[in-house]
Amino acid sequence: MRWSAGDRGNIEDMRGRSGGGGGMIPLGIGGFIVVALLSMFTGVNFFDMLGGGSSSPSSSTVGTSGATTGSPTEERLVDMVDAVARDAQDMWAQKLGSRYEPTKVVLFRDSIQSTCGYAGAATGPFYCPGDRKVYLDLGFFDELARRFGAPGDFAQAYVLAHEIGHHIQTLTGTEGQMRQMQRSDPGSTNTLSVRLELQADCYAGVWGHEASRAGRAAAGGVELDPGDMEEALRAAAAIGDDRLQKLGTGRVMPEKFTHGSSEQRVTWFKRGFDSGDPQACNTFER
Ligand SMILES: [Zn+2]
Repeated sequence: MRWSAGDRGNIEDMRGRSGGGGGMIPLGIGGFIVVALLSMFTGVNFFDMLGGGSSSPSSSTVGTSGATTGSPTEERLVDMVDAVARDAQDMWAQKLGSRYEPTKVVLFRDSIQSTCGYAGAATGPFYCPGDRKVYLDLGFFDELARRFGAPGDFAQAYVLAHEIGHHIQTLTGTEGQMRQMQRSDPGSTNTLSVRLELQADCYAGVWGHEASRAGRAAAGGVELDPGDMEEALRAAAAIGDDRLQKLGTGRVMPEKFTHGSSEQRVTWFKRGFDSGDPQACNTFER
């Protein structure tokens, strides 16, 4: 995959503050006050005992700038994430017109508190409809390569494009409609969740279609190389629920699928990739 580094305008860098301090337990302001009072009355600094060595409330609340610099490899990853997010968002802005609202990729390390709740590294990348942002721990890319056997930058780009696909679903109202349907019929929760996930895969494919056009790199965009498509398919297959379940429990339980099987994920990614048309991604009608 070819791309060029930009101004990181699509990134919210929280690597410096999230999960730092060697396992600092997130306190929240209530917890902070309790620990502060304990420390005051006993003369023992309980903050040190919590492992973070933190003595100010700002480090246990979200919102402060947490920019940081990682290894050169990691910084290159940040540039790549920014380039992909920019490219995919440009495409969706064109397709949705005035309905489009930009999103950002929040980079974190180990753990983060989002509007959608607390997320640890094991959560994997996710989209939070509450604040309309994508959350990503760059460590997941190592997991993708090592644990799931899906290395390569386009495999990483696919994961990102999938999360941006969830942003599109929020903007178009599909996500909201689905939540409503799940509330009125709780038995349909997993089936509907699978459909939503497969549509995000298909939307990732739609972006892949766009990125496979020749001459995009020269124009400052993202351009696929031969073999990139296979990387994404490997990733789509690797993180299908059946594979994840087998790794986790040794068994496959289709009724518990929330993302779709490996085969379904590959099929829908390809449908988007081959057509380049979001209309082809109607997973709710099939
Ligand atoms: Zn998803």
